[in-house]
Amino acid sequence: HAKKQGRNNFQFHSDNQIRELDRDYQIELEVTDALERNEFSLVYQPLINLKTNKIVGVESLLRWDNRLLGKVSPMEFIPVLEETGLIVPVGKWILHSVCHQMMSWQQQGLFLQRVSVNVSPLQFRDPYFIADLKEILHEAQLDASYLELEITEGTLLDIEDSTKKLHDLQELGVKVSIDDFGTGYSSLSYLKQLPIDTLKIDKSFIDDLDRDGKIIVNTIISMGKNLQFRIIAEGIENSDQFKYLQEQQCHEGQGYFFSRPVNSERIEELYHSLQ
Ligand code: C2E
Ligand code: MG
Ligand code: MG
Ligand code: MG
Repeated sequence: HAKKQGRNNFQFHSDNQIRELDRDYQIELEVTDALERNEFSLVYQPLINLKTNKIVGVESLLRWDNRLLGKVSPMEFIPVLEETGLIVPVGKWILHSVCHQMMSWQQQGLFLQRVSVNVSPLQFRDPYFIADLKEILHEAQLDASYLELEITEGTLLDIEDSTKKLHDLQELGVKVSIDDFGTGYSSLSYLKQLPIDTLKIDKSFIDDLDRDGKIIVNTIISMGKNLQFRIIAEGIENSDQFKYLQEQQCHEGQGYFFSRPVNSERIEELYHSLQ
């Protein structure tokens, strides 16, 4: 599209497009050495069991605080990491850091059933992905069953490669969840043929619960549960949504209603206050 062509071709752009190009270009320039400059960090958002109201796990989320641009949203810089291939080394750093954090929590007596890590399509497709992951788990001494990888339906479009990788992960003992479920085109019957543990219902359906979202959410929960998936609702922001999902016996929830993503120390405080 125009944004990509604009870098090398002569084209007419509106002022807005030029500003956007400048920002994208600046992000690309700055993100290249962000790992070396130690500008990345990780925050964690609790996953709550909706029956017991306890923290059963956390999702790790990447943060970037740049010397020139300040805090940049993952929605802005993750696509740049993907386009440039930088997501591969950065993704390795994320997996390494998260596995070590989880191990350190276990050593402190803080027991979470799992930690989930977002994995981009390009990172998942990398031929060394499984080998690198094995090495990271081994080095961190973390039991693979505590790790869950979040991929989107888009990652599954590469059917042959993703099917092979999913089976490799199953063999390793690493869990897999489908992030933003419902926004892509994969059917539950297709997903059931793959070694996938969890479906995360996209926030847009939770936002729509007070309108016509109920039918979709109820269908995902009941069909998903019958097919033995763990079901998580993303983006729970208020008690109405929380109560509704609890009534529908959705397994787990995540959202600002429980906690925003926070640093590891804050997870420790939350964990102890909620157990
Ligand atoms: P995601 O994996 O679907 O993560 C959920 C996003 O929703 C997070 O945004 C989280 O902060 C936000 N969120 C959680 N609860 C609520 C809520 O109640 N209300 C609202 N409005 N938002 C909520 P964040 O951290 O900005 O991340 C955005 C996306 O960037 C993620 O979506 C994921 O696709 C990507 N991302 C973040 N960290 C990583 C990472 O380490 N690796 C990769 N590959 N992608 C990442
Ligand atoms: Mg996610
Ligand atoms: Mg999501
Ligand atoms: Mg998302």
